[in-house]
Amino acid sequence: MTDARFAVLFDWDGVLVDSGEAHHASWNLLAEELGHPPLDDAFFAETFGRLNRQIIRDLLGWTTDLDEAERFGRRKEEFYRALLRREGLAVLPGVRELLAALRAAGVPCAVGTSTLRENLTTGLQQAGLEGFFVGAATSEDVRLGKPDPEVFLQAAARTGLPPESCLVVEDSHHGIEAGRAGGMKTLALLTTHERGQMQGADDIAKDLSEVSVERMARLCGEGLSA
Ligand SMILES: [Mg+2]
Repeated sequence: MTDARFAVLFDWDGVLVDSGEAHHASWNLLAEELGHPPLDDAFFAETFGRLNRQIIRDLLGWTTDLDEAERFGRRKEEFYRALLRREGLAVLPGVRELLAALRAAGVPCAVGTSTLRENLTTGLQQAGLEGFFVGAATSEDVRLGKPDPEVFLQAAARTGLPPESCLVVEDSHHGIEAGRAGGMKTLALLTTHERGQMQGADDIAKDLSEVSVERMARLCGEGLSA
């Protein structure tokens, strides 16, 4: 199928789709239901890339029980999917063009995300991005969330290439840390955070409209054969 010698592992939220407002709104619907105050912007930013059960138990302290944290997290995602179905999901600049170019170049792409598989499936449908990925690793596939590298190691395995031949694309510092810890190259996008918060990445771009297949290949130390 392909003789590509590198693969691209995309984070989902904030990298491929503009889902921030829907996530923030669904956290606040959960907070309201449980009788807690809404999450302010700074706290919401701290949740990026983390698993719900860790956010609810360790950051918010809404429960000490992991099963209850898991249940609250699933409730938040019910609110989220209902919002997506009602309001749709916008694809970020350059995404469709780059994914098409990667597919044409035979570069395998996978998703590595802290979101639930059902959210990703719903989101891929809403955004019309089905068919660009050889696979995905989601919240259900891992024990530890980013900055642990587990989700990207699993995404790399779906591409059939070793971690050191993979480029991780991320909008959160937790995700960049995860990619580095997994031995992958990293590209940070400034779609969510300022440049100062994304240090440590191998490369930084405003969004994917600035990124070509060639730039990705160079980051992975590869030329393109065609
Ligand atoms: Mg993200």
